[in-house]
Amino acid sequence: MSLLTVFQQLSTTQRAVVLVCAIAVAVAMAWPNDEEAVPVAATESRPSTAVHSRADAASPVVPPPTPATLSHEVVPGDTLGGLFTQHGLGLATLHHVLEADQELLALDILRPGNQLHFEWTEDRSRLDTLSLVIHPGRTIHYRRLSDDAFEAVEDNHPGHWHERVLISPIEGSFYASASQAGLNDADIVKAERIFRERVNFRRDIRVGDRFEIVLSEERVRKAEPTGQTRIEAIRLRLGKRMESAFLHDDGSYYDARGESLGRAFLRQPMQGPPRVSSHFNPRRLHPVTKRIAPHNGVDFAMPVGTPILSIADGVITRIGNHPYAGKYLEVEHPGQFKTRYLHLSRISVRQGQNVRRGQQIALSGNTGRSTGPHLHFELHVNNRPVDPLKADIPRAKRIPAREMVAFDNKVRTLLDTLEHAELRLAQRNATHGNEI
Ligand SMILES: [Zn+2]
Repeated sequence: MSLLTVFQQLSTTQRAVVLVCAIAVAVAMAWPNDEEAVPVAATESRPSTAVHSRADAASPVVPPPTPATLSHEVVPGDTLGGLFTQHGLGLATLHHVLEADQELLALDILRPGNQLHFEWTEDRSRLDTLSLVIHPGRTIHYRRLSDDAFEAVEDNHPGHWHERVLISPIEGSFYASASQAGLNDADIVKAERIFRERVNFRRDIRVGDRFEIVLSEERVRKAEPTGQTRIEAIRLRLGKRMESAFLHDDGSYYDARGESLGRAFLRQPMQGPPRVSSHFNPRRLHPVTKRIAPHNGVDFAMPVGTPILSIADGVITRIGNHPYAGKYLEVEHPGQFKTRYLHLSRISVRQGQNVRRGQQIALSGNTGRSTGPHLHFELHVNNRPVDPLKADIPRAKRIPAREMVAFDNKVRTLLDTLEHAELRLAQRNATHGNEI
């Protein structure tokens, strides 16, 4: 079996990887003394092709050109516009890709470490596919459909979740101790938010207090971490008082008796009777482009300037201005919930700000590409958009009776996990003590 045959049997992604590696080797060989070690792709010079993906049996001497590919790891300061210019891609292409991203808004926030793969058409005159690797379990491909359109295709690999227990006394502050124990900043903020109604992390913490956390971390394929984490359970021992929270299947946290730790969500983000102009629909015929594409939210028709309210307590995690989504913002709520508000005329909050349920966060508008004044409202549960009008949003003060058996079982398992970890820790401390 020749190398070429092996190469032909590879998937497109694998071929791309091989090509990129080959190109990197070719570049390294071309500049053996290159001290920067980073191949710089100038505007006019796309990487030369070192390996051909396809051989033409009729004329083996001159095989047809292969699609050129280029990979880029996002570093701080990168913008999609800047990268497009750097790689000789025009503004029109950028806009077509952004149009395909309107329902995902994934390209609007490039995080350092994200991978971008550019793949040109066979004649290398145009971009064929742009792939954004958000983490090993999630890639979005923006594929050219025609001269003036791209489509977004999501490639998600659900991973397996591994549990880890973090136990530590609280010394100084909860933040410092949790950080020291290995909890990342985002999860520390989430932990504080879970107890927002019950614990004041500035005033209620005393010497001798401790926390116990069961943290789930997602991994895909050969145990590659995706960076996605989930607090399954958390207990705070505050003097004689114990506060606990357990994540239920509905995405919300409850105490051991099944009482809700947060407040009920509002059903809609504005006052007055809703006028739905377009429903949530995974296969909608787009009113402007006339193509089938998902509609990941619900559209409420309303006059420009209508006050928009956060449907729950939360923190502003994103504020943006997108050529198609217009002015928009995203709020992260306690539990596994996020909301997005698009086509706004004015935003009255700032990034990182805490907001309360019912707080006015913006005024509705008609910005971006919009067929008329309306609010596009999205609800995400576990990072997936769901129908805000039908989803099981946190409404109840406690878990419904029919779900209590399952919840009780989960709580018991989590408590067992914590007790075992405590025991192991105590044994280890005792052994350690004897040694001294
Ligand atoms: Zn919409």
